Parts: sequence; C-alpha cells; structure tokens
Amino acid sequence: MNTVIPSPAQPSIPVAGRSERFPVRRVFCIGRNYADHAKEMGASVDTANPMFFTKPADALVTDGADVPYPSVTHDLHHEVEMVVALASGGTDLTLEQAAATVWGYGVGLDLTRRDLQAQAKAKGSPWDVAKAFDHSAPVSALVPASEVTPTAATRISLEINGETRQAATLGDMLLDVPAILSALSKLFELKAGDIVYTGTPAGVSALLRGDRFRATLEGVATLEGRVV
Ligand code: MN
Repeated sequence: MNTVIPSPAQPSIPVAGRSERFPVRRVFCIGRNYADHAKEMGASVDTANPMFFTKPADALVTDGADVPYPSVTHDLHHEVEMVVALASGGTDLTLEQAAATVWGYGVGLDLTRRDLQAQAKAKGSPWDVAKAFDHSAPVSALVPASEVTPTAATRISLEINGETRQAATLGDMLLDVPAILSALSKLFELKAGDIVYTGTPAGVSALLRGDRFRATLEGVATLEGRVV
C-alpha cells in the first residue's frame, strides 16, 4: 500500500518466552467488575448491563517501558486488571463461544486521571480524557491459554514501592471472562487482536512520579515499571 504519510506503527505486546509478539487491534475495558471497587467509587453495579469503555491501542506501554506522568491531572490512579487477548471473535457470542476466543492472558494497569473522570461524571461527559490518554495502558507480556489458564482462585495484586495496594482473587469478579466477552460481543464485533481489561478490585489510589509498580497475576504474569 502506498501511503501519503508514513503508516503508523502496529501496536503489539510481547509474548512470554517467545520472539513473536501479539498484534493489538483494539483495547476494551469493563468498569465496575468488582463489587468492592464499585463501592469505593460510590458507583452502582448492573451486571445485566455492564459498562465498557475503550483505550487506543497505542496507549499500551509494553516491554517494561517507563510510564510518563500524564499532563493536566493531579490525581493519576492505578487500577490493576487481568488482561485477556483474543485469537478470534464474533458477535452475539454464547459463553462457550466467548471462552473459545481467548488466546492468552496478562496483567495490566488501567491508568486513570481520576480528577478528570470525576469532572466527566459530574458533567455527563465522555470518559476519554480520563481513561484513553497516551501511555494509559501498561501491560505485561502475554502467556498463551494453552500454557496456563487463570481460575477463580488466582490472585491478582499490585504493589507500589513494595507496599500492597490492591489484592483480590479472580473469583471476586462480578462477570467472569466468558460473561465479559459475551456481553461485549453484543455491542461490538470482536476480532483477533482485541484485548480486554477485565476490571479492578478495591484499593485504587494515587501514583506519583518515581513510584515503582509491580502487578501480579499469580502464576501467570508480572508487570513491573515506574512512573517518571
Ligand atoms: Mn478499570
């Protein structure tokens, strides 16, 4: 293809133990998927109508790169989340069909400009400036589902400067992975390369310049990095 400007780079995520990378098409996120986090945000929960938003694929931060503290905000928050990567997709997927689309798993941070999110909520404005900013989606290397599959007992946690801020098990999720993907597939046609941030447990709090983070999906993936 001849292009009038240089083609933008294809965002991708490393795969643990392999030279091949996972090319990313779109980044979906579910909100309010842990009851204790919804409660700490003063938000209601409606599992029949889950709340989704997106980030641009080039908001991903991979390979342990530093996360620049974003502009405008004075309240950057961490949200540790399991990340699911899809090898296929479709629309109106059953739970069984949805489960079969998963290629692999990782762990990531859904970084949030919490002050701008509060302003958006108050005004009924979109969340893009709060959620979809540059470098807002650090993510670990992915592990194929053929090698490891998280269970309800799998622990997800986040340490900041060695102190645990968030910890839960995946069984605390209100919607599990097949339910998330099935619901999402009613709103969007899912395709190979899509990834989904699956929601955060309680304990979200502020990140400062110089903070070091270590996110763990026990036995699956670890993400380490720092805010600069
Ligand atoms: Mn989130």
